[in-house]
Amino acid sequence: LGVKALCVVSAGFGESGVEGKALQDKLRDVCRSSGMRLLGPNCLGVQNPEPSVRMNATFGPRISLDGGIAFASQSGAVGLAAIEFAARLGVGFSAFVSLGNKADISGNDLLEYFENDPRTKVILLYLESLGNPVRFRELATRISAKKPIAIVKAGRSAAGARAAFSHTGAMSSRDDAVAALCLQSGIIRARTIEELFDVGRLLASEPLPKGNRVAVVTNAGGMGILAADACEATGLLLPRLEDDIATTLRSKLRPEASVTNPVDVLADAAAPVFTGCVDTVLKDEDVDAVLALHVLTTGCDPNELPPMVEAVARRYARPVLGCWMGRTGEPPPSDRVPRFSFPENAALALARAAEYSAFRQAPPMLPPPIPTPPTGATRVLADARARLGAEGGWLDAKERLAFADAWGLAMAKERFAKPSIEEVLAAANALGFPLVLKAELAGVTHKSEHGAVAVELNTIEEVRSHALRMLRLEPVAFELQQFVTGEEWLVGAVRDPVFGPLVTVGAGGSRAELWRDIHSRLAPLNAQDVEALMRTPRIGRTLLGFRSDPPGDQDALAQFISRFAAAAAAHSELAELEVNPLKVRRPGEGVAAVDVRIRLRRS
Ligand code: ADP
Ligand code: MG
Repeated sequence: LGVKALCVVSAGFGESGVEGKALQDKLRDVCRSSGMRLLGPNCLGVQNPEPSVRMNATFGPRISLDGGIAFASQSGAVGLAAIEFAARLGVGFSAFVSLGNKADISGNDLLEYFENDPRTKVILLYLESLGNPVRFRELATRISAKKPIAIVKAGRSAAGARAAFSHTGAMSSRDDAVAALCLQSGIIRARTIEELFDVGRLLASEPLPKGNRVAVVTNAGGMGILAADACEATGLLLPRLEDDIATTLRSKLRPEASVTNPVDVLADAAAPVFTGCVDTVLKDEDVDAVLALHVLTTGCDPNELPPMVEAVARRYARPVLGCWMGRTGEPPPSDRVPRFSFPENAALALARAAEYSAFRQAPPMLPPPIPTPPTGATRVLADARARLGAEGGWLDAKERLAFADAWGLAMAKERFAKPSIEEVLAAANALGFPLVLKAELAGVTHKSEHGAVAVELNTIEEVRSHALRMLRLEPVAFELQQFVTGEEWLVGAVRDPVFGPLVTVGAGGSRAELWRDIHSRLAPLNAQDVEALMRTPRIGRTLLGFRSDPPGDQDALAQFISRFAAAAAAHSELAELEVNPLKVRRPGEGVAAVDVRIRLRRS
């Protein structure tokens, strides 16, 4: 019949087992062969609220208001709930799409459509799975440089169900990969549907904040303090107002009022006074956004103030957020000043918008190409494969050393010895003191748990007594290393079958999992990613010197992380790659890996 698009709301397809899947494939083949696009099956449908169309092809009861938000939902029920929620807030859509089983049209297809849809100002997604994260990242990076994308990705709590043996594997989950993908491609990540719509409607109606400095104007001192707390907790700042701004405020207000940020106009201030103060703080160059917070008092008309503040906001290219407390009923729709029920919601939405704005102002972060591995490293892995077979497994000490060498990863000076006292003592004398003695035990990955690590040995007698003790553990070999001082970091990578290699950096040592002080990014990394990996974990503060501790060699650490991530990205046959600890020494002294684990995946 020449139909170009089909929306199938019926269930009983891919979600319901083998037979359903066969039906779904057949349906998709029919669509593909006739040039028809397919939405669903098993979806809630689609709405286009544009006034000349007003199509409600969902089985939901009402058509949404017209507006600038495009919303795609992988769950029909979540979609319906969101439509109701948006209607109550007076929020309008440019489109609503329920994706269902995604037999043909995917979230990525919709992203590409909304990218060029002039009616769409903000793209909101509710996702349960990411079909093709690599493509999603490419698209999102391109689109979020023009339009904001905000997502809720369900399934945060389920830790990655991957078989992993390193600290990195135990600590980082699939959710860390999603978080990294969002950070690296400018996607705003909301935790809840409420947050998603809060940030969505803020970005749909307000200009982007230039920075994260907010002024609070209120008629209730207590609410002002709560708002200030909420702002600072989300990473926003309350700047000091300029002197002439404070002077102007003072001239409008009673002497008991507060003209510092948060500005408290006092409970009985009339609507024009409150509005005038919002106008005044918007003139302050150090204010990127204003949160207007008004609690209704007796004798006030509940509908008088909001439109007056909206009129002021229209004169400025800065976001204004409204919190009109103590009023009931649905507010009259407005194209400016989104309304929030509590200052906490407003602060959170504004903080997300400010982060997105920072992403837009930063130089574009394109992921670099996957590096070509040095032939030395490829050869090591081929030899290890020959030794380990299709099952894969851990590289041995010499393989690890050769691999690290090929990639230019700095290792502590070391020597190996056969499991005999004479060999160990000779190796110790050749290496020099102080040193660390380690016994390599078959099938053991965390050596110190078995008493197979003795640190800071200063004499040959100490080496002898520890070697004698360790010989009882029946080691395969001994490893002797130069004893290195410095802060202990962890640099690890786990290859996720869907997302690819996820690089994790943070506090290392045997207590790494206890502190879980880490940050993760998807490899390959660009310079900004490396910087974020070094600075985001708390241990990052030690790089500048903390209290009496010396600073660390930042350049050497950055170089190590880049090379490590390149190695993780270049070899798809690596399942896990971890250095714990990496000793970060003083500036100019470099870094040294003292414990490296590399696991070849099953082929
Ligand atoms: P494990 O298999 O238990 O992780 P490691 O080789 O990491 O064994 O050693 C355990 C701990 O000993 C490290 O976390 C580190 O604190 C310390 N250590 C190991 N090697 C050295 C070294 N060369 N210099 C200084 N400290 C070291
Ligand atoms: Mg270790």
